[in-house]
Amino acid sequence: MNNPFLHDDWRASVALRVSPRARYLRIRIDHQGRVELVLPRGYDRGEALQFLDTQRGWVEKTLSRITPPEPLLRPEQITLPAIDQCWQVDFRAGLRGGFREQEPGILLLREGDDWPESLRRWLTVQGKRHLVPWLASVSAELALPFRGVTIRGQKTRWGSCSARGNINLNHALLLLPPEPVRYLLIHELCHTVHMNHSRAYWRLVERLCPDYRIHDRALRGAMARMPAWLHA
Ligand SMILES: [Zn+2]
Repeated sequence: MNNPFLHDDWRASVALRVSPRARYLRIRIDHQGRVELVLPRGYDRGEALQFLDTQRGWVEKTLSRITPPEPLLRPEQITLPAIDQCWQVDFRAGLRGGFREQEPGILLLREGDDWPESLRRWLTVQGKRHLVPWLASVSAELALPFRGVTIRGQKTRWGSCSARGNINLNHALLLLPPEPVRYLLIHELCHTVHMNHSRAYWRLVERLCPDYRIHDRALRGAMARMPAWLHA
């Protein structure tokens, strides 16, 4: 990462902001490494910049501790372990609709800044194609009926189940191995019986999926390891 604080004009990368609510001079650094000097109204700018100079060491140290955001790299291929598929990704200019499956295993995405969104829409299509019938077959196998299912791209949850028995599944489940996905389907189907995480609920989950603890732990950590395009 190009760190402007290694250059002599480092002050230029600091944003100055006068805040009527600020009661004292302070330096703010956000999680993306943006530095802001916040001045109370009427505070002398020259003095504020002198203060900034005295804090340079602290600012550099703080910035060095911030992990840079994962760069948004164009994928050359997308692996969907849940359904044992691998797609080669090619980019095309002016592609209508943003994406097209040229043939099974070859996905075309439109050139341009909106490719992550197109890729997510394609993943939702894949989710409808594969996660919906998968849920239906597990439901039939375990005799746990549900009312409806929606595939979405939630940022923090793998799935949910409403009191009426409508299940939401995250399209990113396709990026996981099949075992935790099957567990997640069972987890949501069990909520059609118990709308909570009570002991009785977990007893039911354990009866239907004895290894549920391992899969539950895997799911908890997995969201943070998803590719950057999923939330860009
Ligand atoms: Zn739950």
